[in-house]
Amino acid sequence: MTKNYEIAVFEGDGIGPEITDPTVKILDQMARNSNSYSLTFTDAPAGATHYAKTGESLPEASMEIARRSDAILLSAMGLPDVRYADGTEISPQIDLRKALTLFAGVRPVTVRAGQRTPLNMPDGKEIDFVLIRESTEGLFFTQGRGEVTENEARETLLITRDISEKLFKFAFDLAKTRKATGRGPGKVTCVDKANVFRAFAFFREMFDAEAAKHPDLISDHAYVDATALWMVQKPWDFDVMVTENMFGDILSDLGAGLMGGLGLAPSADIGLENAVFQPCHGSAPDIAGQGVANPFAMILSGAMMLEWLGIRHDVEAMQNDGARLRQAVDQVVAEGQVLTRDLGGTAGTADAASAVAKVLGVA
Ligand code: ATP
Repeated sequence: MTKNYEIAVFEGDGIGPEITDPTVKILDQMARNSNSYSLTFTDAPAGATHYAKTGESLPEASMEIARRSDAILLSAMGLPDVRYADGTEISPQIDLRKALTLFAGVRPVTVRAGQRTPLNMPDGKEIDFVLIRESTEGLFFTQGRGEVTENEARETLLITRDISEKLFKFAFDLAKTRKATGRGPGKVTCVDKANVFRAFAFFREMFDAEAAKHPDLISDHAYVDATALWMVQKPWDFDVMVTENMFGDILSDLGAGLMGGLGLAPSADIGLENAVFQPCHGSAPDIAGQGVANPFAMILSGAMMLEWLGIRHDVEAMQNDGARLRQAVDQVVAEGQVLTRDLGGTAGTADAASAVAKVLGVA
């Protein structure tokens, strides 16, 4: 029987709508061609443009659409010139992360043969690892509430047992799924600074307790400074790495750098009940409205969404469609014929998305 899944769509600001439109069209066509699942897309107004018009950045009605959806597809959000009265930027994606307790920030880093990267890749090597950034606590815990006096500033780092246990279970489950689909040796690396901070010794202790439940997987530790070095020297050695919020914030940009920029970097923020899928890049107001934005990070986020939904609901066809969509983008990038400017080509958004749709046979 075909089951329907509800997708909440936040089309975002700047280039957001331009990259959302072709992504939704591809996902919709793939679902229409399937006998195993269908998708319904519901627009959820939010973001900087919406705030400028209405005074609301994330209306309760949109929050409700997000809450009751099976997955949330969110494009780039925020505009530098549209701010709250206190000067901070509009970022509904952070509000969603907090409201829905999306503790696992999933940042895949892949460099396939033929893909541009600042590294000199040894022949035959490819990069394929996933960085999981805890996204609700850590050094971001007092975000916006830090104490500043004339001579001192303090922010508090929070690591809780509750979130850490969920995070590590998620990391080991992901390594297991990757291993089962031939995408890694089943290794999880805990990235911390346990040699200096007690909070990270606590973090590591909970990691080790989860690792003990998975004798079929490899567990490993690395200090965050050494990890930054190894991500440049031997990134192909990583499989799944899991870390605190601030460390993950920094290392995920390093990961995007390895991929040759943000144009190919998808992400997901996952909790126990909800999940948001969105490109790592911002709304790129400097190129908005020109039809030249790279849609690949958004399309790859859509592929992650299909794979996640397929695993969660045990719908193999949806998992396979997610993998096919990811591989279609990889193929277009490797062929190098239809690339947007940020990847060294001259193609526009529509042509780049069409090239992916053609590989999939849904053009
Ligand atoms: P944020 O803080 O919201 O993440 P940012 O200030 O880091 O945003 P982006 O909006 O990501 O910046 O843009 C950084 C640069 O990358 C800009 O020059 C932008 O044009 C370019 N860029 C970002 N996304 C894309 C894309 N999908 N296609 C082409 N260029 C992009």
